[in-house]
Amino acid sequence: PTDDDTAVDPRALAVLREVWGYEHFRGDQARIIDTVIRGGDALVLMPTGGGKSLCYQVPSLVREGTGIVVSPLIALMADQVTALEALGVRAGFLNSTQLPDQRRKTERAYLAGELDLLYLAPERLRSEQTLQLLEAGRIALFAIDEAHCVSQWGHDFRPDYLQLSMLAQRWPQVPRIALTATATRATHHEIAERLHLVDAEHFVADFDRPNITYRIVAKNNPRAQLLQFLRTEHTGDSGIVYCLSRASVEKTADHLVDQGIPALPYHAGLDRETRARNQARFLREEGLVMVATIAFGMGIDKPDVRFVAHLDLPKSVEGYYQETGRAGRDGLPSTAWLTYGLADVVQLRRMIEGGEGDAAHRRRQQQHLDAILALCETVTCRRSQLLAYFGQEGTAPCGNCDTCLQPPQAWDGTIPAQKLLSTVVRLDRRGQRYGAGHLIDILLGRTTQRVTQFGHDDLTTFGIGTELSEVEWRGVVRQLLAAGLLAVEGEYGVLGLTPASGEVLRGERELMLRREPATSRSRTSGSTK
Ligand code: ADP
Ligand code: ZN
Repeated sequence: PTDDDTAVDPRALAVLREVWGYEHFRGDQARIIDTVIRGGDALVLMPTGGGKSLCYQVPSLVREGTGIVVSPLIALMADQVTALEALGVRAGFLNSTQLPDQRRKTERAYLAGELDLLYLAPERLRSEQTLQLLEAGRIALFAIDEAHCVSQWGHDFRPDYLQLSMLAQRWPQVPRIALTATATRATHHEIAERLHLVDAEHFVADFDRPNITYRIVAKNNPRAQLLQFLRTEHTGDSGIVYCLSRASVEKTADHLVDQGIPALPYHAGLDRETRARNQARFLREEGLVMVATIAFGMGIDKPDVRFVAHLDLPKSVEGYYQETGRAGRDGLPSTAWLTYGLADVVQLRRMIEGGEGDAAHRRRQQQHLDAILALCETVTCRRSQLLAYFGQEGTAPCGNCDTCLQPPQAWDGTIPAQKLLSTVVRLDRRGQRYGAGHLIDILLGRTTQRVTQFGHDDLTTFGIGTELSEVEWRGVVRQLLAAGLLAVEGEYGVLGLTPASGEVLRGERELMLRREPATSRSRTSGSTK
């Protein structure tokens, strides 16, 4: 869809120009805004940075009454309101962080019809008092931001969102607009259903970010690989490096600084001032690298982020898309770079197994992990796969991702997989379970202390895997784990069989594996980890 404001309500265009100082609407904005001004409902899927806010802010200014915005991002509300006030928009918020005085002031302003926009945390709508307050004023529209939070299949489910369906019953005449940046085709329909958006128009934006090059590389020495990536491709650029843990954020930031690359840490364990200071520097200065956990980035709008690097595997495709989407907002070439290895799969599978929540919750997390693993192990275009995940199926190979630029070879890994799985079976018969390192030692015929101690050099599979290097074996294990043909068990991350393993063992299933282009034939010596 192209920019088009010919058909748009002239009042909307006037507001855009007078209040925001922008000349034109972008993408679907005009059509969405028109729908809502006319009193219709809308469901909007637009990537982060696409301009969702204007889709409800402009109609709130055009329509009579106050636009009620439901948002779970309580931490951002005060900033959003301040930013609106700076534009001369009359805005307020009600959430738990507020002093009673502030709250009463906001409530009075709403009742007096002096607010254009009122932001609410979803849990506010649980109280009958709030509902009566809303009823006593005049409502222009309801905007439900981060609408994917209503989906129990999403990565961000909030039980309070389920009750938002009552808005339709209680205020049938008030238009509602639900917005999200992360929804697969399946969740998209679930959102419409759960929010009772029966007659809503659906607006699904193009999720492609053509200026971002996607690359996923096998992890062997992540910090050295990162350094190499930064030095060869992004010297002097601003970028974000995501790590899973706070400790790894600190270490990586220190390491980069030691190597002469200006870097700052950001994670929830740092005090508020340090976080605010580091964030402000990142936004203001050029060429800074922010090393962060995923706590960093929500609401960050820096156009010239040239790269987003992940040193650890994100937990979902949604997360990956959102985080990498912070690169290249200015439309210039940018890189999304991820290192991923066996340990990531083991760690994440273990975290899910040992984590909180019921069986259904674990199953959902597994599915999210499976989807991101499929993206990592794909031998076809990464962008096509990413877009298919967001409901845009069948796009042509992009020519701007690693698998397009350097197609990985697929190889028949059935026999190595059988060797590995039958080693697991044999150990299992002895009541023993081990991690990848020891299994590979056995296959390579290494007489390590542990092998000798447990008599594993007597196994029939001892030394039958010398056709592959250790690195290649780790690739086999990783891909078996990714495909659900091996399971991670217990707190030490030992490997076991899955119900599907038998198909490979019995030769009923052929296994095509991915060979990393760069390290395809490299042999490593030395110890196993
Ligand atoms: P989202 O909520 O979808 O992540 P935002 O609403 O925060 O995106 O918008 C992202 C940025 O784009 C903001 O800086 C916003 O002011 C800007 N923007 C949105 N619409 C337009 C437009 N029509 N013209 C120019 N800039 C726009
Ligand atoms: Zn591609």
